[in-house]
Order: sequence, then structure tokens, then C-alpha cells
Amino acid sequence: MSGPIVRLSDYAPCVFHIDRIEMTLELDLECTAVRTRMSVRRAGPADAVLELDGQELQLEGVTLQGRELEVGRYETTPEKLRIFNCPEVFELGIRNRIFPAANTALEGLYASGGLLCTQCEPEGFRRITYFLDRPDNPCLFTVCLVASAATFPRLLSNGHLVDSGTLADGRHFACWEDPFPKPSYLFAVVAGDLVCVEDTFTTVSGRPVTCRVWVEHHNRDRAGHALASLLLAMRWDESTFHRECDLDLYQVVAVDAFNAGAMENKGLNIFNSRYVLASPETATDADYDGILRVIGHEYFHNWSGNRVTLRDWFQLSLKEGLTVFRDQEFTCDTLSRGVKRVADAKLIRTDQFLEDAGPLSHPVRPASYVDINNFYTRTVYEKGAEVIRMMHTWIGADAFVAGLDLYFARHDHGAATVEDLIACLGDASGQDLSLFLRWYDQPGTPILRAKCVLENGEARLSLSQQNPRAPSDAGPLPMPVVVSFVDTDGEVSLIHDPHIECTDASRTFALLKLTRSGQDFVISGIPADATVCWLGGFSAPVILEADDDVASMLRRAARAPDPYNRWNAGSDLMLTLVRQDLEGTTAVFTEYLEAVRAQLDAVEDPAFTAMALAWPRELTLCQSLCPAFPLEGVLASRAGFLRETGRALDATLQEHFVPLHAALPAHWDLETSGRRALKNTLFALWARQCNGQTRALARSWYEHATNMTDRIAALSVLCLEASADRDMALADFFDRFGHDFTMLTTWFSVQAAAAAPDTFDNVKRLVEHPAFDWTNPNKVRAVIRSFAANLGHFHRADGAGYDFVGDAVLRLNEINPQIAAGMVGSFSQTGLLDPARLQRLRGVLESLARAPGMKDKVLEQVNRILGA
Ligand SMILES: [Zn+2]
Repeated sequence: MSGPIVRLSDYAPCVFHIDRIEMTLELDLECTAVRTRMSVRRAGPADAVLELDGQELQLEGVTLQGRELEVGRYETTPEKLRIFNCPEVFELGIRNRIFPAANTALEGLYASGGLLCTQCEPEGFRRITYFLDRPDNPCLFTVCLVASAATFPRLLSNGHLVDSGTLADGRHFACWEDPFPKPSYLFAVVAGDLVCVEDTFTTVSGRPVTCRVWVEHHNRDRAGHALASLLLAMRWDESTFHRECDLDLYQVVAVDAFNAGAMENKGLNIFNSRYVLASPETATDADYDGILRVIGHEYFHNWSGNRVTLRDWFQLSLKEGLTVFRDQEFTCDTLSRGVKRVADAKLIRTDQFLEDAGPLSHPVRPASYVDINNFYTRTVYEKGAEVIRMMHTWIGADAFVAGLDLYFARHDHGAATVEDLIACLGDASGQDLSLFLRWYDQPGTPILRAKCVLENGEARLSLSQQNPRAPSDAGPLPMPVVVSFVDTDGEVSLIHDPHIECTDASRTFALLKLTRSGQDFVISGIPADATVCWLGGFSAPVILEADDDVASMLRRAARAPDPYNRWNAGSDLMLTLVRQDLEGTTAVFTEYLEAVRAQLDAVEDPAFTAMALAWPRELTLCQSLCPAFPLEGVLASRAGFLRETGRALDATLQEHFVPLHAALPAHWDLETSGRRALKNTLFALWARQCNGQTRALARSWYEHATNMTDRIAALSVLCLEASADRDMALADFFDRFGHDFTMLTTWFSVQAAAAAPDTFDNVKRLVEHPAFDWTNPNKVRAVIRSFAANLGHFHRADGAGYDFVGDAVLRLNEINPQIAAGMVGSFSQTGLLDPARLQRLRGVLESLARAPGMKDKVLEQVNRILGA
């Protein structure tokens, strides 16, 4: 068994409230002393017991109304402090000690390099002191930090600095007051030797907000993009969602040791340094995009999550789904909307759909958990965002904005539920959206069957839906199905039928609102030779089943009015190639090559063309084709088509990428990064020929690269095979960048993700490399996660890949259980595997389940996959 189960149905409001807390932390790497004074109010019966959460704390004393509490009035267990006979209103004091340097779990207060920092979401605050560590207890925090002035020159916490000074013993102090009540998971402290870049943002009502990004001294020149992104995000949230920054000081800190991407602590965001640091020499264009997105995401939480928080952790998607939707829209508006929407759709269609089809499938709002940390998933985040997006499409952008305004007004400073948000969107739009709750409460990816008959000048569209994973009484889901039409000449047929709702003013896209298991729609005025394009903009997160043929795919790929439909048609064509190859039937390779040539002759948005020409990931193809076809067959077929495309289009590809390479500047901006993406996509396709010419050019591009995007593109090409050129480039990369944390992780991940036949041996060597460190999550992910995502090597027929990752889980279970639990997810792609592989994989999981000392959160994941 893997620990006690928490259930949504068991939710009960707090029996006590802590309205205020004053904390003093005497910060020290080895041992930090914590003193708190809390204003507590009883909301339950007179005999109610105050039960505070606490983990791995050394308790030194408890006071009630300023008087030391004798031992009989309270008791401690490994996870609780219980206080009996509490008055109605009282002041509670606690003294305890914690040990940051020994905290390798990276929850609570821990050391990252020479810094001390915190991570409290979801339940890390209980590792700092005893408290009501649940999101529905908003509390006013005052925090005094005391530390050695030499070791920790900067002392930061949430809110505003209200006092600071030096003490006689070489220590100094800083007192911070947060003007807003917040749940404990948003508490933050950072102490260390940091430097900041700073700017001032003036809000729409004219209030100045000081914005600071804190980094280590040597990274000062790499913080500018993060700061600029923050200012962009602030302006965007005002103009798009009327959300004005409510703080006078907004700070972001980069740390190297961090379990996740970043954390939205009120007024003091703590970031994994890979989502802060960027310069053209050290960050790829994708890194620049990622920083923009994550900085935006954490900032948007200042309203969706912080100002209105969660009633309980089951509502996690209420803040995450909504905030992912907001960061997606921010990046769509700031970068290229079509490209960004396709990128988001790709992620959900492969990664989230696989999660939802496998043993770790769960609803967007799970009904139970052992450890909520195991539910920070693609389903809660990305599928949750798709559900928000569907409601946005359903009621339209204006009503959606009005609904969010209502939500933030109605629940300001409160702790809300998914039902609360849906009610606000419904009230503002005058439409009943309550059926959308079904998307939150049932797991699985629905299948949408779609049929279109064109005759007599009308389109008759039949839609039906089915979710094989949903309980039988679950009921149909509401789905916005966006459709458009192109005729044989490539002209778009507009929707003239006045009975049909459209999503756009020019009436290109019809909005069909599916609410039943099966439903028919008729659109008049559509020519009989038209091709229908289903699910424009990926309007619902479903698997589409519709009759299709190569001619229609080619027409949609060239002319569909929606970028998602264009991309999807090309992607379906490549999938068809591989499927036909595996079936031994006639492949449509010639048509595919013609389509590539046609795309290259008509480039409008280079970033989009790059995405349209890139082959589907190995995982995406395996998801559609395995285990009906063997995994190695799918990978070999994909690799074969890439090689053949490189050969067949050798001259055409060079004609396009060579001049682009010469013309592009090193820096990141939207236009440059789009053209660079196209150039490197074509280069990678060409280089798949793997001959002396491709190696020589890759080596030359590697050596003369002026920016990290090009350097990594060349290095990745060299890592396709074992060669002296590859070894030279890898050694050079380490010499140039090995001293730098973020680039060192890149060096690890490029090797672990490589297709070359000696990758497994290299990965085994990498974990023994002096620069590797099991206590650092970025390095662990760079090697172990990248390897586990490298399908051909991880799923080796002899099972050695499984043993290797299983051993890593066992080791990480002791060091950082959260990272270990995440690593177990690598074993969840069971639906792709043949019986022999499945048996080996299960053998590794069974030995993990039997291993002594496995932590609850790790066992929860192991048991879910084993179906125990
Ligand atoms: Zn978030």
C-alpha cells in the first residue's frame, strides 16, 4: 500500500482559522531557527482540537496567550501538532528548528548552491513550521529574516520591506510584510548573494511597480529577456483581461536547484534558472520563447491562483488550467498565433492523450490522491486549459472576459472551486455551461466521429461522440466543433447560412455546438466539391475519426484557412506514409515530396512552414501505430523516410537553407527565430543522409555558430551517429560551456536524446561524470528523463533501459522522492509495448514495489501503473 488516500468527497471547511502570522527565521544552512506568533480563531465547537500540519520539524516549545504550554495540552505525531482546550480567539506561539542543507527533497526551506530558498506548493510550508497548511486558510504574513550579512547579503520575502538593519554579531535582518492575505503555499523566502536588474512598470491607473529579476552576479547580463517578458505580461493582462498588478514591488529570483519550472509565490516568484537566463550565445530561440511563456504564466497567477485561490488541492486545474490558457493566449498574441496554437495542440495530442490512455489516466479534477504532487500533470494543466478554451470558444471572447471579471470580483481574496468559475462564465454569457463540469470529472480522451455529405448545395454533418474510459452513466460532453470548407480550386467557401453561428466576422468558421451523443447539422450554400476541415484551431481535445484520403489531405495541407488544419493534414500524410510502408502497400512518397516542394515555394510564415515540414515525433507515430506494428519497425520506417527525403530533395533543401544561414543575425526576435527555425528544420532533414558532406557542414556550423540555436542544431545532427566529429564537438562544448549550469544540462540532454547507436553506453558514463549530480533535478532530468524519452534506446529489447531507469528511481527515492515519482511516469507508456517488453517493464516496477523504504508518493505511481 502507498499511504492514506485523500478524497474530494471528504472535504470539510477549517475548524480554526489563522488570520495572521508573524514569523522570525534565523537563517543558517545547517540549522535554521523558526519562531511564529499566530492569531487563531475557532470556527467549530468548543471541544474542537486545533490540528496543525508539520513534517520533519524539531519542536522546541509551544505558547498559548504568551504562556508556555505544558506537555499534556498538546501532542505531536510525525505529521501533526494537536492542541487541546483552545479558547475561541487566542495567540499561539511555536518555536522549531529545520535543517536546510540536509533537505534534498527541495520542499520547504532548502539550499541551492550558496542560496537558501523555499518551495511551499503544495505542502512544503509544513516543513518550515506547524501551520494549517491548506489553501483555504488565507492569512496575513509578516516575516523577519535574520542571517549572516557576509553569507546572505540579500534577504527577500513576499510583500514589502518594512524594516532592515544590522546586528552587532555580523548578522543583519530584513522584515517583510505582505499586504494581502494568502494561503501558506504562496509563502517564499530567498537569502543569498544576488544581484538584480530592475525596471519600473506603470499600471493602467498610473501606479508604479518596481520589477526586479534577481540572479547570481555572473548571470547579470542574462536577465534582461526575463525582465522584458515580465513587463510585456503585465501590460497584456491589463489590456486583455483588465488585471492590474496589485503590488508595488514584484520580484523574480533564479535558482539552480528547483523541482519544477517556476513558482508563483505572491510578489516573489522563484524560478528554475533555465526559465530566466538567456543570451544569444547561451540560449536557443526555444529557450527565449519558453522564458516568455513561463514568466507570463507565473505573473498571471498573481490573479488566477493568488488573488483568487483554491478551496482544496482537487481544484488544482482551477488555477493551472486557467493560467495555462492565459499564458497560451499571451504567447499567441506576442509570437505567431498559428504556430503557437499548433505547438500547444501537438503537446496535448501526444503527451496528454498518451497520459489519458495509460495507467496514470485521471480526470482534470481527480477524485482522490495519495500525494497531490503526483497530479501536476498534462491532464490538470494542458487538458484543463483546453476545457477553458472550449468555454471561451462556446461563449465568445467578450463574454469570456466579462465572466472572468465577474469571477475575480465575486471571489476576490477567496478560495474557489471549479463550479464557481463555470457559474461566473455562465452568468456573464447568459448560457448554461454546467455540462462542462463533465470535462472535469471524467478521465479519458473522447472519440469524435464526424461525417460530411455534400449534395444539393448543402453540407450535412453528422457528429457522434464516445469516451471509452468514462463511466457508463457519465453522459455526453459539450464540444465546440469548428469547421470550414475549401473547394477543389483551393477557394475557401464562406458560411452564408444565417442559421449557423460562426467564430469569426468574415464567416469562414462555423461553430457547431455538440451537446448530445449524436447530433446532425446542416449548412446550406456549400459546393458539392468542397473538402471539410474539422476541428479548426483544435477546437476540442478529442481524437477525430473521419473518412479521409490523400487528395483531401494534400488540399487541406495547402489551402485550409486554419493553420491547425493545414499542419494536421501534413502530419496525417506523414503518418499515412509510415503506415503504408509497414503494411507493405504502395506508399505516397512522390506526393509527399511534391507537397514539400510546394510548401517551400510558398513560404509566408517561415515558423509555420518549419513546423509543417518537421516530421511527427517518434512518440506521436508510435501512439498511432503501436503495438499493432512493432516499435522498432515504426522507428526504422520514420528514420528511413527522413533519410530518403534528405536524399530526394538534396539540392532543393540546400537551395533554401544555405542562403538563410548566411543572412540571419544572432539575436532572438520573432522574425529571426522563425526564419532560423525553417533553416534548421531543412538542414536537419537534409543532414539525415548522414554522409561525409552532411558531417562536414554540421561540424563547420558547429564551430562557427554565433548563437546557441545554431550550435545545438549542428550538435544534434552530429549526434545522429557515432563519429570523431561528434566526439570533437561534444568535448569542445564541454570546454566552452561546462562551467555554466544551464548549458551543462544542455550538454547532458543532447547526448541522452541522441539517436546514435552508442547512446546507452554514453548515458551510463554520463551519470558517472564529475559534473553530474543526483541532487540536482535539472541534471537528473537532462540525463535520465531525456534517455527515457529516447524510445529506441529506452525500450531496448533486452530490458536494460528499464533496469537503468528503475535503478535511478530507487536512488532518487532516497534523495528527492518527488523527482523519483516523476521518473516513474517513464514506465507508463505500456499501451505501446509488445508482450515481451511489457513483461520486462512490469518486472522492474514489481521490484520497485517490493523495495524497502519506498516513499508513499513514489509507490503511488508504481502501483497505479501496475494496476494495484
Ligand atoms: Zn502554474
